[in-house]
Amino acid sequence: MFEKLFKIIFSNKILLPFYHHVSEKQPIHTKHLFKSRNISHFRSDLDYFLKHYNPVSVDDIYRSIFKNYKLPQNPFLLSFDDGFSEVESIVAPILKEKGLPAIFFLNGDFIDNKDMMFRCKASILIEINNISPILREQLDTIKDLFQSFDLEYTNFKDSVKSISYNKKDLLDKLLEVGEFDIESYLKNKKPYLTTDQILSLKKDGFDFGSHSMDHPYYGKISEDKQIEQTLNSLEKVQNIVNSKLKLFSFPFSEEGVRESFYEKISPYLDLTFGTFDNKFDPIKFSLQRFAMEDYGDRISTTEESVKSFYKRSILRIPFGKSSVKRV
Ligand SMILES: [Zn+2]
Repeated sequence: MFEKLFKIIFSNKILLPFYHHVSEKQPIHTKHLFKSRNISHFRSDLDYFLKHYNPVSVDDIYRSIFKNYKLPQNPFLLSFDDGFSEVESIVAPILKEKGLPAIFFLNGDFIDNKDMMFRCKASILIEINNISPILREQLDTIKDLFQSFDLEYTNFKDSVKSISYNKKDLLDKLLEVGEFDIESYLKNKKPYLTTDQILSLKKDGFDFGSHSMDHPYYGKISEDKQIEQTLNSLEKVQNIVNSKLKLFSFPFSEEGVRESFYEKISPYLDLTFGTFDNKFDPIKFSLQRFAMEDYGDRISTTEESVKSFYKRSILRIPFGKSSVKRV
């Protein structure tokens, strides 16, 4: 019922579900951040989308916005953030089998496993502590470290989870205390896509975009830094893939990003992607996506995820909150 109503109300809206990765056993660097889909669950998501929607490419979307190209009714396009290597080993073969296009958004600093996103380091620390809780003598060192960053220590999990982007160096110090060799982990596990993998995915027809250099909260950094993060990552990705369309997705959210940012980056980008579900966006080249992964303890079925997205979208209408508002 909800689905039918939604499809009538939003039939011209492009459905843009996004993920990070798909895995049978979630790696420790994302295990405590979100719940990833396993293969059969991901396949059921795709079957659902294919049954109710029509796949379109990012080029189709661009042409529909700027060149009057007519998209089919109920169009959809998948995208994947953060450039995790599972998009090459697990996701891409399934997408190819189903004939589905997708955009992979990459962080400039993490390509080729040169570094890891600060939140992923927090996830590893929580896992280390779950397996072997920190020793008493380490606890004092850890509390001192938090204090040296002007942060309060409550309990390990909550304190580590609350470490923000501008205090991310603390995570490296904590990994040292936990004797976790992040460089070996990056070298051996290769959590992120390598240049070769990116080129092979490009050959298969997938699209790429940038996702900042090292994944800050844009609303919490200066506009100059936002622009620097955006343009540097775009250049880094373009140096590898040299795409016709220049695409960007906001790390975390675009909450707090001012209109002036869009004015300044518009000469360099063709389309930007946010995470405001399917809110109407007054900026022509800005599109909004919705998260398919869960952030709580349980994993929703495909129908539950999509229904909750429908509900949020419909409930916003009477409250006048169905448009993106910026300052
Ligand atoms: Zn991200």
